[in-house]
Amino acid sequence: MAALIMDRRQFLKTGAAVTITGGMTSIAKANASETSADISRYAPLSPEPEFIFGPDNKLVNNPKQRFAFTKCFGCYNVCGARIRIDNETDQILRVCGNPYALSTNSGGPIAMDVSPQDAMLQLSGEQGNQNRATLCGRGNAVPNAITDSRRVTTCLKRVGKRGENQWKTISYEQLLKEVVEGGDLFGEGAVEGLRDIYDEKTVANPSYPDFGPKKNQLLVTGCSEDPARWGFYKRFSEASWGTPNIGNKDSYCGHQQVAGCALGVEDGANSGALPTTDFEHCEFAIFIGTNPGLSGISLNSASKRLADARTQNPKFKYVVIDPILRSLTSSSTSDKCEWVPIRSGGDTALMHAMMQYIINNKRYNKSYLAACSQEGASKIGEINYTNAPFLVVTDEKHPLYRRFLTAEACGKGDADTKMVIDAKSQQLTTADSSAPCNVTFVGEIADNDGQAIQVATAFSLLADRVNKYSMSDYSNECQIPEEKIIELAKEFTSHGRRVSIETNTGCNASDGGQFGFAMIMLATLVGAHNAKGGMLHTGSMGFENTSPLYDMMAFEHAHVSGFNAERSGDYRQSNEYKEKVAKNINPFPSDSPWNETFVQDNAGELLVAHANGNPFKFKAWIAWANNPLYACSGLKDQVEDSIKDPKQLGLIIASDPYFNETNIYADYFVPDLAQYEQWGASRQWGSELMGDVVSFPIISPRTPINADGNQVCMEQFLIDVSKQLNLAGFGDNAFKDTAGNTKAIHTPEDYYIPVLANLAHSDEVLPNPTEEDVKFTSVDRIYPQLKARLKAEEIGPTMFLFTRGGRYYPVDSRYEGEFFNEMMRWDAEFQVYNEGLAHITNFHSGEYLDGQPVYDKQRFWDGTAIRDLWSESEYPLSFSTFKHQLRSPYSVTLKNITALGASNFIQMNEIDANKYGLKSGDTARVTSPKGTFIEGVVQADSTVAKGCIAIPLGFGHTAFGASDITIDGKTLVGIKERRGGMSVNAFNAVDPTRKGASLYRDATFGSTARHGIPVKIEKA
Ligand code: SF4
Repeated sequence: MAALIMDRRQFLKTGAAVTITGGMTSIAKANASETSADISRYAPLSPEPEFIFGPDNKLVNNPKQRFAFTKCFGCYNVCGARIRIDNETDQILRVCGNPYALSTNSGGPIAMDVSPQDAMLQLSGEQGNQNRATLCGRGNAVPNAITDSRRVTTCLKRVGKRGENQWKTISYEQLLKEVVEGGDLFGEGAVEGLRDIYDEKTVANPSYPDFGPKKNQLLVTGCSEDPARWGFYKRFSEASWGTPNIGNKDSYCGHQQVAGCALGVEDGANSGALPTTDFEHCEFAIFIGTNPGLSGISLNSASKRLADARTQNPKFKYVVIDPILRSLTSSSTSDKCEWVPIRSGGDTALMHAMMQYIINNKRYNKSYLAACSQEGASKIGEINYTNAPFLVVTDEKHPLYRRFLTAEACGKGDADTKMVIDAKSQQLTTADSSAPCNVTFVGEIADNDGQAIQVATAFSLLADRVNKYSMSDYSNECQIPEEKIIELAKEFTSHGRRVSIETNTGCNASDGGQFGFAMIMLATLVGAHNAKGGMLHTGSMGFENTSPLYDMMAFEHAHVSGFNAERSGDYRQSNEYKEKVAKNINPFPSDSPWNETFVQDNAGELLVAHANGNPFKFKAWIAWANNPLYACSGLKDQVEDSIKDPKQLGLIIASDPYFNETNIYADYFVPDLAQYEQWGASRQWGSELMGDVVSFPIISPRTPINADGNQVCMEQFLIDVSKQLNLAGFGDNAFKDTAGNTKAIHTPEDYYIPVLANLAHSDEVLPNPTEEDVKFTSVDRIYPQLKARLKAEEIGPTMFLFTRGGRYYPVDSRYEGEFFNEMMRWDAEFQVYNEGLAHITNFHSGEYLDGQPVYDKQRFWDGTAIRDLWSESEYPLSFSTFKHQLRSPYSVTLKNITALGASNFIQMNEIDANKYGLKSGDTARVTSPKGTFIEGVVQADSTVAKGCIAIPLGFGHTAFGASDITIDGKTLVGIKERRGGMSVNAFNAVDPTRKGASLYRDATFGSTARHGIPVKIEKA
């Protein structure tokens, strides 16, 4: 590699072309006719340079190519991308990162006031070593997906039975008519069309009237990781049609950790949080259930920041705690990093063990925890405070039992004011005090009437809680030696607040929510939240898109009535509860699981409800960009029959660019746009700063044009369905401008252009771009569309947005003293005791949840310990899955990725393998307690925790062209590489204590759990 760099530099000195950098900006001099030839001599496979030096040494586009900013949707990070396209063929020549976006230019994103030409120059020459606007390996392979030979590019109707992969092409107009009007569409009997189903008067199921009208029997599932398009989708589903049954993937992906983290940040259980590390000043970071940049958060930014921290931050050390050693922990700086293997499902035990050591050895941040108000925190130089000193009523007979003691109860103020014990006087006082408090108080205080009340501070309850089990119990559970736990706890408390702990989708046992809560608590003990070198809570946020120009929701919204079918809501308001109470029957347990906590629209649970016909069977399903049968742990065999059978589910309409394992059961297929063809706006996951990546169609979409001359896609289909059914929010009078003028939505552009104009005008209005900027970034291609929909003065700032590929806050100011500045921090009263959570009911037991993290055995919904049903002797190993560096749910269509390895492996520790007579290369069978199994090749070494089996996700596909597809009588043969390896979600266990079809659930949030599940292995 060094020689290659030398050659290039030598080459550059010749002056034939200016430079080629790691950022892949290639520039040639104008009028140098030999330039292309020279470059092709050195890089015969490379396309021609994208830019030419024009007059005044300014960059101009190579006339044969065009250049634009867009988004990468190779995974759900949604990084900022730049793309160059051959003008003649419309083929994508190369994709790279957007230098304005932090997610892809972690060397320091370029300020938005720098012109795109200058921004690209900053990626060239020696500067390119610092400004490397890159995409990850998967992102670089994404162009494969656009031209994929198995992409769906026509409107299809199934031929034969559902799931047989036999289709015929039909016109868009026929598709629209048939799905709206229904009829005997397949010679299988009458099918109710959407017009029949849109019925607000008839109750869907008279046995469950509280689940609403017949129109709720429309199920819609989609991709929430594409916020602008998800916003459109929800507009149709919720505001125009009005079904509560909207599902996405978050709740079977890792939602419980996000919701669990929020338990330590905000009162109640209806929020999300996922802090990240301030690499630049951190001294000790723990990554648990994740590996920096490898599971969710962008590899582009996290790995660069990690590498910089390892080489430029001399104090930085980190450990990765995970059942599997993935990468990034072995390096030339091995003294600074370590992999600590943990048994899958043991994360909460580890958190409690570390807290026990920290509390018992008084290694917590005493002054921080002693403050009970913002004023008190500010007085001692803290930025936030906690409720550690607040007094919790522990007297079971007292009306405030499990709640904070209030000033009202003590005759000292109102019900909103909490009570604390002043550290100096040891007297009861109100929590608006600015003086330090006694955080360890446990005892009696006298109320207004002189009655004694048993109370304890939130902190002392936590001290009790973490001492409920011994260090050895915790160690046994997580399989980390006690000495190592103590070492971790000591290290975590040896750097002041310059420490961090972060997670991402890897701690999904049935206590994933409790783990998240405990993880945040650990950081609370040392005051690492919002601290320089500590933990950042506001990363990955989109810009606040207000409505300065257009009120997109200014229309009469549909009335949404009834509970959703996955039963997220208050069971006490249900008919079942009320009827049981009226009959004097104990209302607990509820017949099916309910959740009052933040559930987040679990597509898997909605399908389980359908399979059970409880509260009803769905009549129609619109499935867009979502693949639950492949991706939701345990789901497939629970629901497949109920999906396959048209008598159980009359109509399935899919919209996607690809056949996936779920939408192959569709009756009708609406081809959707692939990335680079879409309008969009999205937050960047992994960016520590607020910002949105935006996109506009930069290549010609490959979907058909309908009879009205519009490009077929998900949005156009929903617009046309809405117009046929006269749903509000689409067609004429769909929204209003600020002057109250009504506006129409007849095409996706009618929606996205005002949405993006709003983004450009939110907060500070963006400036106008220069004509050069517009041309240079190909934004001139959409000028006619903007002109047709926006007022003259709105066009400039909106075009500016596209000339930078988004809108990003600058990074030059991050801190305020030892903390993040106001823009970057999440000011909160950090929760040592979450009072709101303590008053949410477990609807099986009827008992309240606990206000503090709980370490418990892994349990089913009915409270049975999973090991009581699935014994250690029969199922001795713990199962875990993880995200592969280069695979994502849709990446199997990327031939540059499958070429790197078409198969995954059963990864296990060599000592375990030996025990079961296995070695690397053997074929083995892993069986789950559901009785299902997977077979694959063993990889046995020392990179997996003992007692665990870990298998990466993203393999073993049966769709995406992996199987034969017949369209119009012509069969496209399945592609072998796409079938490689094991699909691990389908075989995973479910909850046998639930009735009928089920999923194994997180105990707090009802999200699908998939880790720490007992399995056995044998030679196949
Ligand atoms: S991390 Fe995801 S979004 Fe970012 S470049 Fe890679 S594939 Fe694309």
